[in-house]
Order: sequence, then C-alpha cells, then structure tokens
Amino acid sequence: MNHLLKPMTYSLKELYKNVSRCKFCGTLKSNSTGCNNCENSKDKYNKICVVENIADQWSIESSSIYNGYFHILGGTISSSSGQRKEDLLINSLVERVKKDKIEEVIIATSATIEGQTTAYYIQDSLKETKVKVSKLAQGLPVGGEIESLDDGTLFSAFKNRSSIISE
Ligand SMILES: [Zn+2]
Repeated sequence: MNHLLKPMTYSLKELYKNVSRCKFCGTLKSNSTGCNNCENSKDKYNKICVVENIADQWSIESSSIYNGYFHILGGTISSSSGQRKEDLLINSLVERVKKDKIEEVIIATSATIEGQTTAYYIQDSLKETKVKVSKLAQGLPVGGEIESLDDGTLFSAFKNRSSIISE
C-alpha cells in the first residue's frame, strides 16, 4: 500500500468507528461528543426540517436555503419495503417538537406516493403539539417560511438523489 494512503485509510477507519446514527434525530453523530444536531447545537432554532435521508440534509445545508434543525427519518412508510412507521423516528420527532419549543415543522419528503403518505402520517402525529406544519409538494412549497424557496431544482434534486444510508 502507498505510504500516503495508509494513514488516510487509518483515519477513515477511525472516523467510521467514531460515527453512528443518532437514535433521536437520525443524523450522523460523533460517539465521543454527541449529536450536533439535537444535543449540543450551538444555535437555537424554532424550526425542524424533516427529510428522508442524510443526503437530503446535505443538499439543503449546502443550498443554505434553510436555517434550523434537521430530522432524518431514514426512509419512508412503504408497504412494499416493509418499512414501518415505528422505524422512522416519528415519535422522537414529536418529542423534539415539544422539548425544543419548535414553532414550525417543514416536511421535505419526496413527491412520491410513499413520501406523501409519510408526510401525511407525520402531520397527523404532530396534531397534538399544535405546531405549524408546512410541506414541500411537487416542487412547489406550500405556506410560510418556505414560500420564498420557489426553486424547484432543489426539490427535484432531493427527489432524484439516491440514499446514502439505506435502511
Ligand atoms: Zn441527534
């Protein structure tokens, strides 16, 4: 092995060892310092954006169109894949909304039947919290904050992106 590659491989190995999926918000967290998204975020937000996978979070982050917390479901409710509602961290989303005094939940699931079914289920689960729920649909965001985001490209980018963490 190349002498430069060796240390690189080593540090990648260390990196993977130190990173796991947060059981609460679904993003990648450091095992030593905790989750930057839901535990020790420097900034306080009043919004959570709900996405299907981590690739979605990254594209929203890099577009800098949104400032707030993320919640990564890890998939969608689908009858074919056997993905169950319980696996999607929806209960912990409801908990986060209550605990962090969230004012708006933006559902950014894809415009597929599964994505929309999931969005509906989330919306329903959040009813008791009285939080404002808005969602991206067919590339046309509806309501509030995300109205300014008339940039359908971002959304189709989410939609066509393949999942990095497959559950
Ligand atoms: Zn977390």
